[in-house]
Amino acid sequence: EQKKALNPIIPKDHEDTLFDKIVRKQIPANIVYEDDLVLAFRDISPQAPTHIVLIPKIRNGLINISAAEERHKEILGHLLIKAAEIAKKEKLDDGWRLVANNGVNACQSVYHLHFHIIGGRPLGWPPG
Ligand code: ADP
Repeated sequence: EQKKALNPIIPKDHEDTLFDKIVRKQIPANIVYEDDLVLAFRDISPQAPTHIVLIPKIRNGLINISAAEERHKEILGHLLIKAAEIAKKEKLDDGWRLVANNGVNACQSVYHLHFHIIGGRPLGWPPG
């Protein structure tokens, strides 16, 4: 079933999202990778055999890619390199997708930057 666009709940800089609580281990998650800067965990509602959510631990204004600025260069590069490493570790050698939903029309629901790492089956194109 296709998701519909919802009114976005944009957190203020000092406000938590669900993902901050996962970073602090206040909400359990199935973590597949963690370092000082990023966390990757299995999506609670997987859309494919492999569906991992990869986030920066600190939001620092990055509610999504639309908010990206020069000051985020390092963390953005780090996230992409870790996405590639995770895909390799998950053996997604036949292909996989890296998705960042941006805003209402893309059905973004958590306003803390995250990449979906999706694979393990053939993926249709165009997306919904
Ligand atoms: P959407 O919810 O439309 O997929 P997003 O791109 O904002 O939009 O994705 C948020 C993702 O976070 C969803 O795929 C959702 O299943 C996942 N998610 C929500 N809560 C949890 C949780 N507690 N643990 C792991 N993943 C979660």
